[in-house]
Parts: sequence; structure tokens; C-alpha cells
Amino acid sequence: MNEPRQPRNLPRAKKHFGQNFLTDTHVLSRIVKSSGIDKNTCVVEIGPGTGALTEYLLASAKHVLAYEIDKDLIPFLKERFAKETNFTLKQQDILKVQIDQDLATVFPDNMDIVVVSNLPYYITTPILMRFLETTHRVKRMVFMVQYEVGKRFTSKPNTKDYNALSIAIQYRANAKLLFKVPRTVFVPVPNVDSAVVELDILEHPLYPVDNETFFFEFIKNLFGQRRKTVVNNLVSTYPTFSKDQIMEALLEEGLDPQVRAEAIDLEKTISFANRIHGLLKQE
Ligand code: SAM
Repeated sequence: MNEPRQPRNLPRAKKHFGQNFLTDTHVLSRIVKSSGIDKNTCVVEIGPGTGALTEYLLASAKHVLAYEIDKDLIPFLKERFAKETNFTLKQQDILKVQIDQDLATVFPDNMDIVVVSNLPYYITTPILMRFLETTHRVKRMVFMVQYEVGKRFTSKPNTKDYNALSIAIQYRANAKLLFKVPRTVFVPVPNVDSAVVELDILEHPLYPVDNETFFFEFIKNLFGQRRKTVVNNLVSTYPTFSKDQIMEALLEEGLDPQVRAEAIDLEKTISFANRIHGLLKQE
């Protein structure tokens, strides 16, 4: 493919929107190849920016639904892709979108949906959590993320990278760090390196969660303050419980009552969440 066409009179990149535009055609085509998309795939793109990645996605996918928060970029994108009939552009904050409602409108049938994005790094975790929490229609997600954050996706207990995001991802997906990307391929150059990661959404999670809404809140609370024990994090969140009740629940799971969240693996975290959810229902 030729060099991406950059629209003229482009506004300056806005730092507060996490704008670092990808300029390397090799990296762009590698992202699209890794996404495994074809002419049957519907793509959701978060933050098309000036449309560098969008151009590759439009050439490969059936349809692209893109959300861009920056209203100054909308005229450029409209002009750049004026001739494309498989493009839907929305000027919206992705964190405020009712994802399932939009998907039902734009991609109504039982279509393959893949999310692809060179993410705005200042909101990587909320974006990911929102997709994991609120939709079951997405089959795969391929994201450019900050390298240090990408390591969390596959991290294991008792490592510094293991947190609520690792658990949420590993509960819903098979995560792979695909390749590292140097900072020099972005304009402006950010002060971190990046990585492309793939989340293959599991049709059936390995360990069943009784109530997903509760589970996602619970894991955030479990890691509320990383240096605190699980008991101390949870008593402040669920004041109906005493410390003794939480310690007892931990013991029943075969866990140390002084344990910290970072030491509990995925299976045990889910089992413990289900137990606490069951106890709350009895209250
Ligand atoms: N896709 C382009 C590329 O690869 O060059 C731009 C990537 S840039 C890292 C992130 C993009 O996300 C920017 O265009 C930014 O304006 C947009 N963005 C930031 N916050 C957003 C939000 N809350 N909702 C939707 N788009 C957002």
C-alpha cells in the first residue's frame, strides 16, 4: 500500500487527547494483518486520529465504525474517506458510548466484530474495562498500548504487573503480546515504547463468574490499595462485613487471611468473588 495520505491543514496533535499519530506503514499493515480481519469482519476503531490506521482497516474489512472525540479531526476524516461506503464515523467519547446499543444499530446481524485501535494511552484501562464489562459481541481486540501496560495483560500473580486489569482480561480473553513498537514511529514521539497486543475473547470463560457486574467491581476493590491486605481493602468497600467475616471467607477458600490481592490467581479470585457475592445476597 502507498504512504498514508495525510490531509492538508492538519491541526496540531493534542496532548490531552493522547494524540500520537502512527506514521510507519509497515507497523500499520502488521497491525491489520494481526487482527485477522477480512471482508466479512466488522471493525470498531477507537480514535481514528487522522485516519492512518483507518485507511488500512477500510481496505481490509467489511465495515469500520470509528469513534473520535476530537471534533477538529472530523472534517479531515470526512474529507479523507468521503468516497468510502463502508465507513461510519461518530464524534463521541468512547467512554460515554453505549457500545451494545451502537453495535446493534450499525452491525445488526450476527457479524464478526473486531476492535482495533492505536489507543489513547491516558485512558487505556477504562477503555479496556468498558469493552470487557459491557459487551459480549466482540470476538477479538487488537490494541497498540504502552509497552509497560501490555505486559500486564499476560502477567501472573506475585509480579508487579499483575492487577485488576490482568484479571479482567484473563477472565474474558486469551491475551498475547504480539510485538514491540519503538516510540520513533509516532508523531509526536511519545516518551514510552509501545506494543501491539491481541485479546482473543473466550466463548466460554475458563472459570464461571456468578454475577459479572459484581465481579468487575469486586476486582477493582480487591486491588483498591495495592499495599493493603484483601481484608483491609474489602472492609472499606463492603461495610456490612466485619474483618472476621472476610477472613473466614478467605480461609474457606484456602487462602491466607493476610493475603494481598496480587498473590491470588485467576481461578481463586473468581471463586472468592462468587463466595462474597453469595454472602452479600444473604445479608
Ligand atoms: N489512530 C490514529 C493513529 O494510529 O495514528 C490515532 C491514534 S492516537 C494514539 C489516539 C486517538 O484517540 C486520537 O485521535 C485521539 O483524539 C482519540 N481519542 C482520545 N480520547 C478519546 C476518547 N475518549 N474517545 C474517542 N477517541 C479518543
